Formats: sequence, structure tokens, C-alpha cells
Amino acid sequence: MIEEIEVLDSTGERRKISVNQLPVTCPRCNTYLSANVLGAIVTGTKSDARRDAIAVCQCTSGPCGSIFTAFYTIVTEGGVEEGRLLQSRPLEYSAPSEFSEAIRNLSPVFCLTYVQASYAEENGLSEICGAGFRRSLEFLCKDFAISRLKTDDAEVRKNKIIRSSLSQCIDEYLPDAIKDAAHRAAWLGNDETHYYRAWSERDIRDLKALIQLTAKSIDFTLEMEHYIALMPAPKM
Ligand SMILES: [Zn+2]
Repeated sequence: MIEEIEVLDSTGERRKISVNQLPVTCPRCNTYLSANVLGAIVTGTKSDARRDAIAVCQCTSGPCGSIFTAFYTIVTEGGVEEGRLLQSRPLEYSAPSEFSEAIRNLSPVFCLTYVQASYAEENGLSEICGAGFRRSLEFLCKDFAISRLKTDDAEVRKNKIIRSSLSQCIDEYLPDAIKDAAHRAAWLGNDETHYYRAWSERDIRDLKALIQLTAKSIDFTLEMEHYIALMPAPKM
């Protein structure tokens, strides 16, 4: 279906040009959408051999709402210009961490690795971003497990956690309330790093959702413990 977008050209004139399509997915959250075009420019003049148009769009998926750019090449046939969509890219900026302060303090490496894996995903590195998400999960689980060691043999146990496999760490050191999400995230994470994919019907979105759920479960546990420590018993 041919769509139209309003462009500002190099002479300062505004006019409508046809484009073969508007972006159909958001490059940040991958949701299917009808993009909201906030504005567009077209380069050069009609006599130039090569012309491009860049549209600034906003994701219409409520929780995301990211701003991204859509690149078009302009093809002129029979005097009629048409923009053909080449690619959509998220704006490159250092995104504020989507994790709470408690999680950022608990595991800065988790947050950093997660952001880098997201960046890889947004830039089309679909074969390797999963391994990054899997790595971030390992830091989250192990940093949390280590943070809970309080006994005299903490140092010995810390070394055990560092060397344990991710699934061992989840089994032996995480509270039950966190295990369900963490184990499932680990299963999908393994699929991202191994030749054989056991969960072929699940994808990177499920992996990210489960990592986020693991972080939320940890967050919930930490916040609850904070208030229990502040208010251990009813006041008489
Ligand atoms: Zn989006």
C-alpha cells in the first residue's frame, strides 16, 4: 500500500511524497506498529542522482514510545518521486537503565551487559545478542547469590558460586520465589549459545521477558526484606 509522508525539502518547501511503506516494526521493542511520523526531510533537488529522505517516527506501542528514524531512498519515475524504505534505526543514545536502583547497585555488570546486548539486538546483530543476554543473567544471579552470603564461610562459598554453572547457582543459592523465572531464562539463554535449540518455539523476546522477571523478583525480595528489617514487629 502506498503511503504519503510530508517532507521538508532543501529549499524549505513542505510537500507530500509517496513512500512504499511506513516502518512496520519498532527497531527498539520489535512490536508491530503503524508508525507515527513526527517529521521528515528530503535531501537534494529533483535533478540530483541520489536523494534520501529521513523520517523521524515514534513507536505507537504504549510502554515503549521510542523515537526512531526511517531511511528512504528516493526513486523518480516518470517525474514522480517515491520513497523506498531502506531501514529503521533506533536513535543512538545511552538509554537510562530500565532496572531499579537496587538492581543497579547489586549488579552493575548485569546492567551494563544487558544494555550492550540490547544495543546489539537493535543494530541487527541477532545471532550474538542472545549470548549477551545470557551472560547478563549469569551476573545477575551470581551477584545476588553472593550478596546473601553472611556466614563465616562466606569466602569459600563465594568461590563456589563464582565457579558453579548458572543452573547450579540458581538451584542452590536463589530463593524459591526467584527460581521459576531464573531457571526458564537460563534454559532459553542456553539456546542462544548452543548449536542445538531445545525451545525452538520461544525467542529472544521471551528470554528478555524472563530476565526482566528475574530482576523484578529479586527487586521484590530486596524491598520486602528492607521493610521487614525496618519494621520487624508490631509496636505496642
Ligand atoms: Zn517500540
